[in-house]
Amino acid sequence: MLTYLSASTIYPVSKPPVKNGIIAIDEQGYVRGLYNPQEAQDLNIQVTAHYQGVLVPGFVNTHCHLELSHLQGKIPQQTGLFRFVSAVMKNREALAEDIVQAMATADEEMYKNGIVAVGDISNQTISASIKLQSKIYYHTFVEVLGFNPEQASAIMSKARAVKDSFAPLKASIVPHAPYSVSDPLFVEIAVQGKEEDNLLSMHNQETPAEDEFFRSKKGAFLELFKMLAVDLGFFQPTGKSSLQSTLPKLPTTKTLLVHNTQTAQEDVEFAKAKHPDLYWCLCPNANLYIESTLPDVDMLHTGGVQLTLGTDSLASNQQLSILSEMQTLQRDKGMQFQIMLQWATLNGARFLGIEAIYGSFDIGKRPGVVLLEALEDEVISPSTRITRLF
Ligand SMILES: [Zn+2]
Repeated sequence: MLTYLSASTIYPVSKPPVKNGIIAIDEQGYVRGLYNPQEAQDLNIQVTAHYQGVLVPGFVNTHCHLELSHLQGKIPQQTGLFRFVSAVMKNREALAEDIVQAMATADEEMYKNGIVAVGDISNQTISASIKLQSKIYYHTFVEVLGFNPEQASAIMSKARAVKDSFAPLKASIVPHAPYSVSDPLFVEIAVQGKEEDNLLSMHNQETPAEDEFFRSKKGAFLELFKMLAVDLGFFQPTGKSSLQSTLPKLPTTKTLLVHNTQTAQEDVEFAKAKHPDLYWCLCPNANLYIESTLPDVDMLHTGGVQLTLGTDSLASNQQLSILSEMQTLQRDKGMQFQIMLQWATLNGARFLGIEAIYGSFDIGKRPGVVLLEALEDEVISPSTRITRLF
């Protein structure tokens, strides 16, 4: 049996919006038809439910850390990346049952917020049980870090074991950030990535000190490495930005760069020339939480890169909601709803390689159906409500 939903506007994402459109959904949630009012009338379609609002496909959250969910409200805001990282390290230890409970709540919150798929960073195996039971699709990025070249092989074999524990769910081994991964570890990640045609994800240019470290081996990162007792004797500055120094070390498999708050136009040009399959993830609420700054979104957008959205974790966000990320970009950067909707749905699905099912209202897909109410003239406001219909 088909359910026919009509709404003030339906946004298929892959096609222009349909005013007063009608969408047919089957019992399993698959899209079976999408009609304008005239077509629906000609076919004598009886609408099951009408909504004063808009329908959009389910959101794809391409950057989260589910295993940090228990840190919600525990990490001070706007202290900069270093204090943030050390606060996370200090507060991270907790009872396993508390961590699991917080992750279950976060998973449920994402579902209610219309999120259908998540790219999730994990350092441990603890999120596996939640992901296996979840109604959300998860791809786990098993994150490795280690700046000591001698430890590369040991780090990698531990990561392989973590990755295996997420089976049968999708998982791949990824670098944490340009500044936290040694050259031999990058080589091992690249070999593994090529062999398995893996997706990669990496935090990128989150703070000005990151570029400074690569350009001149100076700045606040030296303090951080001192605190972590890392010997930097082997590190040579490159005279280039962090991204330009690191991208050549990655394989050209599909890769997501996360944050990009300090990324300059020349980095984008370099990246486009060097790597054929890059995606750029924006996590604006986390950027405001940690560093109180936002990326040059306009430059990235006009630069023609493939953008996606992420919530980051509850350690650096008040909520796990892609709509809230869109609201921030609309409020602070003037980005248009329809442009961001593509980032929030189809682009994320393409990055995760699940666009045959998710990301748009095309016949045969099962993308989730999300109702947004009180979205006047495509302006997301604090009173905009979100309801998961399918
Ligand atoms: Zn992150």
